[in-house]
Amino acid sequence: MIRTLSGLSFRASGAAKDFATRRLHSTYDVAVVGGGIVGLATVRELILRHPSLSFVLLEKEKELAVHQSGHNSGVIHSGIYYTPGSLKARLCVRGATLAYEYCEKKGLPYKKCGKLIVALEHEEIPRLQALYERGMKNNVRDLSIIDAKGIREREPFCRGLMALDSPYTGIVDWRMVALRYGQDFEEAGGTVVTDAEVDDITTVTESPAGSADGMKYPIAVRDKKGNEVRCRYVLTCGGLYSDRLSQISGCSPEPRIVPFRGDYLVLKPEKHFWARGNIYPVPDPRFPFLGVHFTPRMDGSVWLGPNAVLAFKREGYKVYDFNVRDFADALSFRGLQKLVMKNVTYGIGEMYRGIFIGAQVKILQKYIPELSLSDVLRGPAGVRAQALDRDGNLVDDFVFDGGVGDVGSRVLHVRNAPSPAATSSLAIAEMVADEVESRFAL
Ligand SMILES: Cc1cc2nc3c(=O)[nH]c(=O)nc-3n(C[C@H](O)[C@H](O)[C@H](O)COP(=O)(O)OP(=O)(O)OC[C@H]3O[C@@H](n4cnc5c(N)ncnc54)[C@H](O)[C@@H]3O)c2cc1C
Repeated sequence: MIRTLSGLSFRASGAAKDFATRRLHSTYDVAVVGGGIVGLATVRELILRHPSLSFVLLEKEKELAVHQSGHNSGVIHSGIYYTPGSLKARLCVRGATLAYEYCEKKGLPYKKCGKLIVALEHEEIPRLQALYERGMKNNVRDLSIIDAKGIREREPFCRGLMALDSPYTGIVDWRMVALRYGQDFEEAGGTVVTDAEVDDITTVTESPAGSADGMKYPIAVRDKKGNEVRCRYVLTCGGLYSDRLSQISGCSPEPRIVPFRGDYLVLKPEKHFWARGNIYPVPDPRFPFLGVHFTPRMDGSVWLGPNAVLAFKREGYKVYDFNVRDFADALSFRGLQKLVMKNVTYGIGEMYRGIFIGAQVKILQKYIPELSLSDVLRGPAGVRAQALDRDGNLVDDFVFDGGVGDVGSRVLHVRNAPSPAATSSLAIAEMVADEVESRFAL
């Protein structure tokens, strides 16, 4: 059994045992690399569409969904922020609807606790109104603009001049949802292999030992320990390592993934009643991050934040986590150098607020004036996979890539699945499965 933190558990798959005990030569129609919410939602969608094919999911950690999918704000976004007509907007709006339906069907707990985007200053009001119009164009449900009195009725401790009220926004434990996708996949006959860090994807000219299938499975996917599966096609959904997974099959190193860590504060339990729903600032349109916010969690706690600082390790959740390769990779990348030059002041401010939490509290106090430093504690952190091009532009849309040469026609990499990919996961899965079907002869 593979035990998971949320208490959900999976059947032990034969392959998982085999991987641990001997060099494996199993064959599958499709191997999916990366057991985060995107990989799990997609492999689930694929097996539901193609029940007669064999699928394996390979994940490098001992458990599934422990990186971005297990370290996020837990919000079911309604789709307000994104450019009307963009893929991001369509996937988020559809994804939120599918996520609510899925949670209902599977009995997974969620709360439609709503969200206020609060304007504190007069100059924020035109941006708030523009957001409302965007949301309406995106078909976000039940949006309205409310005044200061309306804010007090919805959130008695929150101040503000005006707010965008989105009652359709909710919260959920995204890791629990991802694990349930994995369970569906296993129940449909799929195989999950954990502790398998893939570092080679290549074509082979020999059939697997003892196989009567000849060259039906021309792709070998190998992990760092030398274990191998053979397959006809490979899909990678590697999150913070999506660029490196692409490179091993000969793809361009760009767009590069640059890790941004977000540190949260948490409200002390006796103050949890201060935030009934999500309270967000009016976002600064120059940055992809939504700004520090108050977010209630499914366990009743309230998280504040996160900020966004460059992380020195791709999966480093502590301030001092450091990895030489990740650090050198990031610093030597022209795109990051350009981004840093363009945003020095913003970056320093974010780092300062990460170290001196009093500065973070000062921002949050503008929304809930009762808040003081003694009401908060340092909380967990998440690391975001931010794709960046060589000109220092943040890549905001989906990026697919294939390999080159023989391997190219059989490999598909999801290089960038931008946030909120947890909310959008079931809609992303439909889109990636369509892409898989159009590229591969399934
Ligand atoms: C701080 C923060 C807050 C966020 N808040 C929200 C929110 O409120 N709502 C929302 O919808 N979204 C939110 N997001 C975004 C959302 O969490 C991510 O977009 C989503 O989880 C991405 O999923 P993924 O599967 O692409 O990546 P991941 O969850 O990172 O999964 C990638 C997986 O690939 C595996 N992998 C990598 N390399 C290999 C390899 N070589 N071999 C095998 N396996 C490998 C990793 O171990 C990992 O399990 C937030 C993100 C962050 C960081």
